[in-house]
Amino acid sequence: MSENKKEEIIKVNHITKRYDDNSVLEDFSLSVYEGEVVVIVGPSGCGKSTILRIMNGLEPIQKGEVTYRGEKVDGKLGSITRIREKVGMVFQSYELFPHKTILQNVMLAPVLVQKRDKKEVKEEALQLLARVGLAEKKDSYPRQLSGGQKQRVAIVRALCMHPEVLLFDEVTAALDPEMVREVLEVILSLAKEGKTMVIVTHEMAFAEAIADRVIFLDAGQIEEEGTAEEFFRHPKSERAKQFLNSFTYEKK
Ligand code: ADP
Ligand code: MG
Repeated sequence: MSENKKEEIIKVNHITKRYDDNSVLEDFSLSVYEGEVVVIVGPSGCGKSTILRIMNGLEPIQKGEVTYRGEKVDGKLGSITRIREKVGMVFQSYELFPHKTILQNVMLAPVLVQKRDKKEVKEEALQLLARVGLAEKKDSYPRQLSGGQKQRVAIVRALCMHPEVLLFDEVTAALDPEMVREVLEVILSLAKEGKTMVIVTHEMAFAEAIADRVIFLDAGQIEEEGTAEEFFRHPKSERAKQFLNSFTYEKK
């Protein structure tokens, strides 16, 4: 497959992750290649968020290693800071600062953490806000925005850091149905540009439309893996079939 020729960006290699004596991942491995959109699906509690947090250097692991473009991400501050700059993450809960305006929220990390020129960051922030249809909200506060608007701001804030990989953890799970689409459209447009992304979602139609590769996770194991067509149209395992069936309704 074409992605095999591409550079491996993030590699999670034979890791073990436990929370006290609860073992979430055992000997788990997953690689993400340049330009690829990997979608992780699976039942609640199977370890999806844990994997994203490990990829972003947010979670200590007990065994194995994470590498970023071949370089080991260890516990040292420099290495963690580097991976967080390169790997942007968007959460279900937006995580915007309530007492800062939308523009301030977007500009904060590029100016304070990346020490970039304020004027240049502002120009880029305004362009990105315009791209997601929120130019006129730049001076508003998060509480004045709808959930869908806040989530688009959170995506812009991640983009403004120029990440090489974006991780999305159920970013539409808290939204009213009519706001889901406006957020998913933004993520689809990033996929069309060739952004490398890892997406955890329960929106199966979206997952099918956007994924180059689908990972079906069950109890911390990769139960099935394939293209969107393979996984959604021709699932192989019983678990995958059951899982996909739980999203459809039959009239009794
Ligand atoms: P998912 O995102 O697939 O719903 P998670 O990665 O959040 O699953 O959780 C996987 C398992 O790890 C669950 O059993 C959950 O209870 C446990 N877990 C997650 N975060 C923590 C934490 N901070 N402390 C203790 N256990 C946790
Ligand atoms: Mg989760």
